[in-house]
Amino acid sequence: MTVIHNLGFPRIGKQRELKRAVEAYWANELSQEALLQTGKELRARHWALQKAAGVDLIPVGDFAWYDQILEWTCLLGAVPARFEHAAAAEVDVDTLFRMARGRAPQGKPAAACEMTKWFDTNYHYIVPEIAPGQRFRVARTALLEQIEEAIEQGYSVKPVIPGPLTWLWLAKGEAYTEGAADAAKLELLSALVPVYQEVLARINALGVEWVQIDEPILAVDLPTEWRDAFKAVYASLERSGVRILLATYFDGLRDNVSVLQGLPVAGVHIDAVRAPEQIDTVRAQLSSGQVLSVGVINGRNIWRTDLDKAAAVLKPLKAELGERLWLAPSCSLLHVPVDLESEEGLDAELYSWLSFATQKLQELQWLRALVDGNADDALEANVLAQRHALLTRAQSSRTHNPKVAASVEKLATLKRDREPFATRIAAQQARLNLPAFPTTTIGSFPQTQEIRKLRSEWRSGALSDTAYEKEIRAEIERVIRFQEEVGLDVLVHGEAERNDMVEYFGELLGGFAFTQNGWVQSYGSRCVKPPIIFGDVLRPIPMTVAWSEYAQSLTTKPVKGMLTGPVTMLQWSFVRDDQPRADTCRQLALALRDEVHDLEAAGVKVIQIDEPAIREGLPLRKADWEAYLAWAVDCFRISTSNIASDTQIHTHMCYSEFNDIIQAIAAMDADVITIETSRSNMELLEAFENFHYPNDIGPGVYDIHSPNIPDQAWMVALMRKAAKRLPAERLWVNPDCGLKTRGWPETTKALQTMVAAAKELRLA
Ligand code: GLN
Ligand code: ZN
Repeated sequence: MTVIHNLGFPRIGKQRELKRAVEAYWANELSQEALLQTGKELRARHWALQKAAGVDLIPVGDFAWYDQILEWTCLLGAVPARFEHAAAAEVDVDTLFRMARGRAPQGKPAAACEMTKWFDTNYHYIVPEIAPGQRFRVARTALLEQIEEAIEQGYSVKPVIPGPLTWLWLAKGEAYTEGAADAAKLELLSALVPVYQEVLARINALGVEWVQIDEPILAVDLPTEWRDAFKAVYASLERSGVRILLATYFDGLRDNVSVLQGLPVAGVHIDAVRAPEQIDTVRAQLSSGQVLSVGVINGRNIWRTDLDKAAAVLKPLKAELGERLWLAPSCSLLHVPVDLESEEGLDAELYSWLSFATQKLQELQWLRALVDGNADDALEANVLAQRHALLTRAQSSRTHNPKVAASVEKLATLKRDREPFATRIAAQQARLNLPAFPTTTIGSFPQTQEIRKLRSEWRSGALSDTAYEKEIRAEIERVIRFQEEVGLDVLVHGEAERNDMVEYFGELLGGFAFTQNGWVQSYGSRCVKPPIIFGDVLRPIPMTVAWSEYAQSLTTKPVKGMLTGPVTMLQWSFVRDDQPRADTCRQLALALRDEVHDLEAAGVKVIQIDEPAIREGLPLRKADWEAYLAWAVDCFRISTSNIASDTQIHTHMCYSEFNDIIQAIAAMDADVITIETSRSNMELLEAFENFHYPNDIGPGVYDIHSPNIPDQAWMVALMRKAAKRLPAERLWVNPDCGLKTRGWPETTKALQTMVAAAKELRLA
């Protein structure tokens, strides 16, 4: 039988048990012993489940208290000095938590390590910190203990560890200025590789045959030095005696495929979902003894696999490679929810189209039977049911709506260009009559306990529509009065009706579905439940107009309409795989366009379309950026097409690294863009300055992630800095991001200070 294996299973548990346990431990409500016990139970459950699904090699090392990269950083003993970790001591779970979040039940608090997105996923890892002369040692034995634990329970295990080159690539340090690619980091390999060798030797001594070493950097643009480093590193690791399966995923190897030539590893895993075309090129690099593991079940999305299509690709491979062909999901299943069977609210048809981690392993088993040609009756029945489900999905009127198709068709002739910015801003100024350095906020105001309670009571039916509407209106009135009192210039309605900026819109749009328990780890104990875009996106009714219209009716000052942009909705959802992402995005853009027009017709003079996710949607390879940015920008322009010159369009992005994409940002042609800049001390406005960014900009003057309130002089100084880089008449004054996570006392103070700062700036 063909070997099937798994690259990693979600560790959070069906009921998010890991989150609950970890948070209880942080709150001193659970002992460390009980915490460790929960971990043990979750691992045992997940191993059993994978074994039951026929997985031959069970991954160990995919479990992590917070993040798998952090676990590995701790194993390597790379604990930054500020955590005052004793040189020879075992890195315990409290040190690990302090690195992740700055504090833990035991040990002194210190500044947490940085966190960032794992390649092009919505998972965040803790960034390793390194310094020249960095020392490494095996400083944490949790992985070795877990391997023993699994062996004792009778499993054939395949430990999964981050590769040395990927770990170094992700690591940062003050001494390394060029970011990931800095070749100076490679000097640390001579210290790092011996520790890898030791770990592998210890794993080998436990009787383990295969170890999966993840090198996802093989899917990104690599400088020559990095590519060249693979051969020597893997030659050293091979000597440890274990058989190494080098795992790549998230895209094809493309020009990095040369790394494989003569690479001394026992096998290679490739992502054949993202890059099916690489099967042939990779196979051509392998020698006669090497295993090719083909990732054919999508580890990044939740749709059932077309088993026939996959089998058609795999059968000739099987004939050629025999035992050397392995099958697996494309990447770790960390990125999909645990079990579809936890869903009770989905309709039967949609349910039949979906596959979560547990189901994906069943699919893998069915696929093996098809490839090996030994499907029994029960299996045949499953495969038949799957075929049927795929057929209904392809033909369903819920996935293909002629009305949507008709409006997409019309896009070919839609005029996206608005009047020139100079004309627009003059018309807007005549209508809005704003002072210099106008003040505004990003949209949300504190989401208090009462507001959350209101929404959940309404959802559960305990609160009637009328009562709910009355309460939300009262809240809107409160925030409008508050903003008037503080003296802000462009007001917002406060977003009290929204629990989440994507979910709110998804629930009102056609083509979206929501799960009850489809949780996916985002970072640490934080999980998200991404919406599922299963069909053509349609806006049956206005989504925000009533709230915005009401807010505007309360005041003579302009109130911004507040929408989530098409790319952000796409990026934070599971997206249908039966058409290009760009097509789905255009449908979202058209739905938003209807909303923009309705808002305009209702007398809303300023409309903000948030696109915080545009940058994170960038493909892994630079060569793919242009195509992506072209459609991403086009979608924004579709949403804002054909509106009056004197309707002011804002956008917001909560990051500030624009160097790479400033041209695209400018092409969006929003009248005003608000961005996050305060933490970088306005340094990051450089991109806008160098590009001579022509439209208005609101560089955030204070960090909303912290409860601290910077003083007026500080905000004024920041704005003066900004004014050195950009024309003062183009500048707005606003916080970095929305205020929903803040409390009212600090929000009041901060905004009062901000308005006072703007007034001071106007005097100068
Ligand atoms: N308008 C949203 C808010 O203020 C924007 C959130 C975001 O940028 N992520 O909360
Ligand atoms: Zn933001």
